[in-house]
Amino acid sequence: MELREKVIAITGAGRGLGAATALRLAGQGCNLALIDLDDDALAATAAACNDAGAPKAVTYNVNVSSEPDVEQLFADIGAEFGALHGLINNAGITRDALTLKVRDGEVTSKMSLAEWQLVIDVNLTGVFLCGREAAAKMIELGCEGAIVNISSISRHGNMGQVNYSASKAGVQAMAVVWAKEFARFGIRAASIAPGFIGTEMVMAMKEEAREKLASHIPLRRMGDPDEIASTVQFILENDYVSGRCFGVDGGLRL
Ligand code: NAP
Repeated sequence: MELREKVIAITGAGRGLGAATALRLAGQGCNLALIDLDDDALAATAAACNDAGAPKAVTYNVNVSSEPDVEQLFADIGAEFGALHGLINNAGITRDALTLKVRDGEVTSKMSLAEWQLVIDVNLTGVFLCGREAAAKMIELGCEGAIVNISSISRHGNMGQVNYSASKAGVQAMAVVWAKEFARFGIRAASIAPGFIGTEMVMAMKEEAREKLASHIPLRRMGDPDEIASTVQFILENDYVSGRCFGVDGGLRL
């Protein structure tokens, strides 16, 4: 897909990987629908996208896990842009805890249902709702394009992340399903599984902690957010890519 003038929606675009992806796509001349919960962060991303060359960058303060809000969101995007060619399903959260903590044979704590449910609501249900509504709008408007789900290296199963790992395995599988279901409408779907990426939050960690993390990675460094963004661009541009998950993790295996 030639990206110039295409309309791409990005969830979690206020900061981190979503903002980096927005900036890269802005540089390719995309029109952007930027979705997040933080108005100030959204406004900053939109301004940076305009500076980077986006013809139009519109912000939407929407919780991706609310069905009525997501339905309204894609109705609004359709009305605003008159087209939709892609969705980057990037918004995601963590609430890490061991499933059970046991001391001297006694269970001392459990991951709460609230910690499980919140992560599933945002990372799994949010991706489902946005993917479903984006595809419906693309079909209605007669637009071909692609959906990219942001999974994680934790999809293999990371200790202390039963909720997050389950959600990230789920979004990888969802992209496989959508690649099959939506191909006849000219809509491709794929996923990206980042390893440790040096977003603002990670870079705010102490240097010692960052070095310890990096020492376990074969390439001996964290990824740059733009290395995820460039993978998004590759998936959007390459019309024969569909149904696959791209690990971008410096060679790390959990
Ligand atoms: P981040 O810096 O925490 O940014 C996530 C963004 O999503 C935030 O702006 C957040 O808004 C927004 N968001 C959270 N819940 C939302 C909701 N319910 N509706 C709409 N927006 C919501 O995260 P990141 O590190 O860039 O990660 C982006 C994606 O990559 C996530 O799916 C993450 O799991 C995945 N990932 C990241 C890494 C990494 O190393 N960074 C590695 C593997 C996978 P607020 O600020 O208002 O909460």
